[in-house]
Amino acid sequence: MRGGVHVIVLLGPPGAGKGTQGALLAERCGARHISTGSLLRDEVASGSHLGLQIRDIMARGELVSDGHLFACLEHSLASLSRSAEAQGTLVVLDGVPRNLAQVGLLDAALDRAGVKVDGVLELQAPLEKLVDRFQRRWTCSSCGSILALESAPAAGSACPRCGTKGSLGRRDDDAPEAVRRRLAVYQEATAPVSAAYGKRGILEVIDGLLDPEGTHLKVLEKIAKIFPLSSC
Ligand code: AMP
Repeated sequence: MRGGVHVIVLLGPPGAGKGTQGALLAERCGARHISTGSLLRDEVASGSHLGLQIRDIMARGELVSDGHLFACLEHSLASLSRSAEAQGTLVVLDGVPRNLAQVGLLDAALDRAGVKVDGVLELQAPLEKLVDRFQRRWTCSSCGSILALESAPAAGSACPRCGTKGSLGRRDDDAPEAVRRRLAVYQEATAPVSAAYGKRGILEVIDGLLDPEGTHLKVLEKIAKIFPLSSC
């Protein structure tokens, strides 16, 4: 991939694998993975004023306000085109936009940074199949890795990716009640977003029920249709 900054949006319901695919693109293709969920969780962990305002909303599985989201995201987006080292970079947005208003707000924020959404990959999966994935989902609070484990990790066990002991846990919003709410919010607010990108002719759909490696191959195929990827 030469010159410019290419921006890809990963869409799809919670649990479809956006975070995993974003992490694989970062690890294997040098992509810059911007996860709004991670940015917001970091804000909560920092104990900032904004973090305190959004903590309970996130724990319930609701969307934070567009204003709070962009207050958190704007800085990451603004830096996209400024640094010389960003040139030739693939930027993967995971978790935004999550409603129709955010489609326009994201366009405007990217425009200010001198870039645009080049392609949208939607990981599709029937919502009822995803509920089960959350039962097996554990997250490392140190490196952010998402792991699928058949049973709960033993107390104090180490993260297989970064080696930190005692860091594996279940996110508050991966509890069954919050998962149900997140899936309902997805259906109401986020599902219409793919139609908006479909109208622009930049939407590609991928089966989100494949395993992570199978999905990764499909993701690479689709990205290659949008622009040549030489770095992975
Ligand atoms: P995720 O890790 O992408 O599943 O996001 C976790 C939580 O962060 C969501 O359930 C929301 O509470 C919040 N969040 C993430 N992205 C957004 C967004 N674009 N708009 C509003 N809230 C968001």
